[in-house]
Amino acid sequence: MTRTVYVNGEYLPETEATVSIFDRGFLMADAVYEVTSVLGGKLIDFDGHAVRLKRSLDELDMAEPCTKDELLEIHRKLVELNGIEEGMVYLQVTRGSDGDRDFVFPSDDTKPTLVLFTQNKPGLANSPAAQKGIRVISIDDIRWGRRDIKTTQLLYPSLGKMMAKKAGADDAWMTEDGYVTEGTSNNAYFVKNGKIVTRPLSNDILHGITRKAVLRMAAEAQMVVEERLFTIDEAKEADEAFVTSASTFVMPVVEIDGAQLGDGAPGPIAKRLREIYLEESLKAAV
Ligand code: PLP
Repeated sequence: MTRTVYVNGEYLPETEATVSIFDRGFLMADAVYEVTSVLGGKLIDFDGHAVRLKRSLDELDMAEPCTKDELLEIHRKLVELNGIEEGMVYLQVTRGSDGDRDFVFPSDDTKPTLVLFTQNKPGLANSPAAQKGIRVISIDDIRWGRRDIKTTQLLYPSLGKMMAKKAGADDAWMTEDGYVTEGTSNNAYFVKNGKIVTRPLSNDILHGITRKAVLRMAAEAQMVVEERLFTIDEAKEADEAFVTSASTFVMPVVEIDGAQLGDGAPGPIAKRLREIYLEESLKAAV
C-alpha cells in the first residue's frame, strides 16, 4: 500500500515525495531525526521527542521548521491517513539547500527540510524478540564525540548491526576506553543483585527518551538504579540485562559476547519494566 508522507508542508503519496539532490541532509548528513512510537493509534511520549528535537536543532544552530503544535498535528494526521495502530513516525529535519554543495552553511534564510513518514508495525508491543530476549556482541565505539545530538550519521551503527548479524547475534553494544557507551540504537543496562546499572548522561551517549521514562518508572517502583560507567565483563557477569529505545521499549538481553545471562531467559526486572513502561506510556499517549 502506498503511504502518505509529509514533505515541507505537503501530504503526498510516497512515490511523489521529493527532496533536492543538493539537500545537506543527503550530501553531508547535516540533519537530525526523531522516531516516535504509535500504540493504539496514539503517540508515545511526543513531548519528550519534541523537546529533544529542539535541543538537537539548537546544538547544531539549525532553524526550527515549525512549531511544536504544528509538529504534533502533522504526526497525528499521518497516523490517521495511514491507519497506523502500532508502528512509528519517523521525522527528519535537515539544514536544507541553497542549490549547490558547500561545506559552509547556506545563508540564514535557507529553509530547513522537514520530512515525516509512518512505519506500520502490527504487533510492536507484543514482539516475539521481547519474549525471547536478544543476543548482543561488543564492538569498538568509533563514532564522533557528540552522540547526544540525534543526527542522521548512522553509518557506524548500521555497520555495527551488520557485525552483530554476521556473528549470529541481534545487536551490538559499543565500548570506548574499556566502558560500554550504548547499543547501536538503544541505551544499555545490566542488573546485578537487584540493582540496575546504566551509563550516566554525557556527550558520549544519546539521551534516550525511553531511558528517561524507564528510570523514572524504576524509581517509582522502588527499584535501585545506579548511573555509572561499566565494562562488558561486568555486564557478562550480570543476572540480567536490557536495552531501551522508542521503538523497542524495554528489550531484554539474554547473551553478551556469547556469555549467557542468568538462565538465558528474559530477567524479571526487564520484564517488569517493559510491562510498566507499556502500561504507563499508553495511559499518557496522545
Ligand atoms: N542510543 C542510540 C545510539 C539511539 O540511536 C537510540 C534511538 O534511536 C537510543 C539510544 C534510544 O533513544 P530513545 O529511547 O529516545 O529512542
